[in-house]
Amino acid sequence: MTAVGNLIDGAAVAVQLKAELTAEAGALTAAGVRPGIATVLAGEDYGARMYRRSIERIAAEIGLVYRDVTLPADVSAEAVADGVRALSGDQEIHGILPLRPFPAGVSEGTVLDALDPAKDIDCLHPANAGLLALGRPSVYPATPWACFDLLERYFAGQGLDPRRAFEGKELVIVGRSNNVGKPAYLLALERNATPTTVHSFTSRAGTLDAHTRRADILIVAMGKAEFVKASMVKPGAIVVDVGVNSVPVLDASGQPVLDDRGRPKRRTVGDVAFDEVRQVAAAVTPVPGGVGAVTNLLLMKNVIRAAAHAGRR
Ligand code: NAP
Repeated sequence: MTAVGNLIDGAAVAVQLKAELTAEAGALTAAGVRPGIATVLAGEDYGARMYRRSIERIAAEIGLVYRDVTLPADVSAEAVADGVRALSGDQEIHGILPLRPFPAGVSEGTVLDALDPAKDIDCLHPANAGLLALGRPSVYPATPWACFDLLERYFAGQGLDPRRAFEGKELVIVGRSNNVGKPAYLLALERNATPTTVHSFTSRAGTLDAHTRRADILIVAMGKAEFVKASMVKPGAIVVDVGVNSVPVLDASGQPVLDDRGRPKRRTVGDVAFDEVRQVAAAVTPVPGGVGAVTNLLLMKNVIRAAAHAGRR
């Protein structure tokens, strides 16, 4: 399936997932429950605005109701929380996604605590995050889930049992954020891998490479453009690149390439130096076209599940 050469093709998985989810959403809508998603955006953060637009687009493609709540940058945490609470009572909305980063001064805890756990589609509410940590998941966080979904599809394509292929494997995660690195550790434990988390203090201690070179499976979520080089990867490892970084396009002499309006052209790269890591790894996810392509669709899958659940109540 998804490994062409040694590329794990998230874009191809996304096409397949989109077709499946469109059919599921259509069936639910025909049964009287059209799934609905809302985003809550506060302020002007570029990444958050781009994310909002891509969610709006995918929701429309799949046939979901979409609602946008946009608040000014100088909003209080309580006002953002009120926006989230108002959506909790909205019968047409089954999934609510507060978009981060929040403006300075808006406490993440105040906003996320206001989520209705039943409408939390990215495992952000403390109750859902706690259940995941206890091994009783109520909802999976979309980004780490996308990493493991791609790995499982890769293993299935190798003729392995995707649920057992992780057993006892050295799985190293670079990054310990609440939305990616930490839950990825829990998903690795769920599959009986032997996970290790490394972070900036591992780097400072000078032991990062020793850890990454041990990994049979390496998941990188650090937000540092092309940081992981071939020398940091064990030959034959499987590498999942979560990073999304915008870098200038350079010409052969290292000078920035300009667009028609004289502005530096930019391109998106991951946290992994793809071309060189590809030479040593068994398989790598590209950026773009890897984890990110699947993440948004798994988020929609959580919306559809929440809608199906609401329909049964
Ligand atoms: P984050 O909250 O900034 O966390 C970055 C993590 O990387 C931290 O744990 C940090 O360690 C660690 N780190 C940074 N520099 C390091 C170094 N030199 N050596 C070792 N560890 C280092 O970022 P995030 O939210 O997890 O996101 C990570 C990347 O994934 C970003 O590029 C983001 O845009 C991308 N992302 C992609 C998706 C998707 O769907 N594709 C979704 C979410 C995020 P400390 O904790 O010690 O500071």
